[in-house]
Amino acid sequence: MAEISDNNNAEPRKNLNFVEQIVADDLAAGKNGGRLNTRFPPEPNGYLHIGHAKAICMDFGVAEKFGGTCNLRFDDTNPTKEDVEYVESIKEDIHWLGFDWGNREYYASDYFPKLFDLAIRLIKEGKAYVDDQSSEEIAAQKGTPTTPGQNSPYRNRSVEENLDLFLRMNAGEFEEGSRVLRAKIDMASSNMHFRDPIMYRIIKTPHHRTGTTWKVYPMYDFAHGQSDFFEGVTHSICTLEFVPHRPLYDYFIDMIADESYRPRQIEFNRLNLTYTVMSKRKLLQLVKEGLVSGWDDPRMPTICGLRRRGYTPESIKAFIDAIGYTKYEALNDISLLEHSIREDLNKRANRVSAVIDPVKVIITNYPEGQTEMLTIENNPEDAEAGTHEMPFSREIYIERADFMENPPKKFFRLAPDREVRLKAGYIIKCTGFKKDADGNIEEIYCEHDPESKSGMPGSMRKVKGTLHWVSVAHCKNAEVRLYDRLFSCENPAEEKDRDFRELLNPNSLKVVDNVKIEPYLAETAHVGDHYQFQRTGYFTVDPDSTAEKIVFNRTISLKDSWAKEQNKNN
Ligand code: ATP
Ligand code: MG
Repeated sequence: MAEISDNNNAEPRKNLNFVEQIVADDLAAGKNGGRLNTRFPPEPNGYLHIGHAKAICMDFGVAEKFGGTCNLRFDDTNPTKEDVEYVESIKEDIHWLGFDWGNREYYASDYFPKLFDLAIRLIKEGKAYVDDQSSEEIAAQKGTPTTPGQNSPYRNRSVEENLDLFLRMNAGEFEEGSRVLRAKIDMASSNMHFRDPIMYRIIKTPHHRTGTTWKVYPMYDFAHGQSDFFEGVTHSICTLEFVPHRPLYDYFIDMIADESYRPRQIEFNRLNLTYTVMSKRKLLQLVKEGLVSGWDDPRMPTICGLRRRGYTPESIKAFIDAIGYTKYEALNDISLLEHSIREDLNKRANRVSAVIDPVKVIITNYPEGQTEMLTIENNPEDAEAGTHEMPFSREIYIERADFMENPPKKFFRLAPDREVRLKAGYIIKCTGFKKDADGNIEEIYCEHDPESKSGMPGSMRKVKGTLHWVSVAHCKNAEVRLYDRLFSCENPAEEKDRDFRELLNPNSLKVVDNVKIEPYLAETAHVGDHYQFQRTGYFTVDPDSTAEKIVFNRTISLKDSWAKEQNKNN
């Protein structure tokens, strides 16, 4: 029997989620010879999103926890929608999340011959028949959960005729949609999935792995459970919408399993996030119609989008841990995801100076042409992160919003006759300013207190505000992409009478050019690196960066609405 590998834990059972408890019980009971094998079964018809990450953490996580294995199985049963591009991206994203399937990479298409043989067997046993009706006619006979369906007029075809027609369906003799193979179960069943479910349909698009070998393709319900069985999967963990499919899953397994081994389906709740959509069909539409820049647009809930935005695997896993696995549907607050990345980057991101909306400050009592290097702590949360140097000179940039001509009392930033401290540097006092013809502040004049620098007698003097800044003569230009939520409404999937594209947030991307960054940042930034821009937020270097211009994605601003909400409630 497999042991729980979490040795740090004196009473592991208490920390198990409900799926893990089922697995632990099955292992303890010696089911399937004490084997544990899960699988993650993506359909290669799109890129993975954060909902899939939840399933991945479960499927690979439970296997890891109990010393089992997890297969990667591509559920490639519909060649019209699938592509190798998606296969490759799925593998990359799973690895990035930190999971590995070893040599257990499988495809539902590997089992097409076995599934076909099983279909033939069921036809011979009188348990399947070819229906010549259109999908509309079949749907019309389905009935409702409270009224029985009607039998198809083709339900009682002879075995010979069914066999002949099914073979000819696969030989390509009939048009798509003209015939299907159905299981002959019960048109009056209280479970709608038992009302003669479709097993096979005709598709003539070549398959990315099997080419033109097949003209009939199995439906999910006829492929999934048997694929689990052929692979030796013991626990087939999926999402709640498959609960009503489970009896059918078991029905087909009954036809092939014996007492020594059978896979078992277990369901948990899907991840749904506010202010986004999780349907692959809708995400594909956003990409195809150019409403986002691609699958990896940093506003997308895809794994590659989150990665480009600056999310780390650790932050995604922490979020998934926090929401947990339950038996009921929920809508998860995106601000909890944002909280997770803030917490993670707080620990790992170096603090740097970048001025997003610059206005020039001239320190009139500082010598022209003089430069001094000031020392900045890289990360107060990480004692090992060290320090770096930042040049100071007579002219600096600060944020435009950090100055007010007529400030209210509680404004603790720069204003006429008021003092602020420059981060890691001097205290300065505003002595005047100049406006351009349109009335915008063009330059601000200040005097510094030479005694106020760190290490000097006046360094302990307190002023209320500390501003970030960069030296005009030394800074470099950068581009910054500021993101807001992709949708303006909390739950776009629920707005049934509106096209989801109308609900997109028109201000979800703001590009700011001419951002001023300190030299250390310009020199150290590599694609994917994370930084905290002091007082602004966490930023990650985008692959669009060039030798001339670094591009940063704002991963998340510093303000944590989720933590604030929690404190209010406590
Ligand atoms: P479709 O939109 O085509 O039904 P899907 O989103 O279910 O696709 P699949 O590729 O079939 O995508 O999903 C692979 C696995 O990921 C399945 O086990 C599915 O249950 C799980 N999964 C998909 N979406 C979510 C989600 N939002 N939360 C948790 N698990 C999910
Ligand atoms: Mg699916």
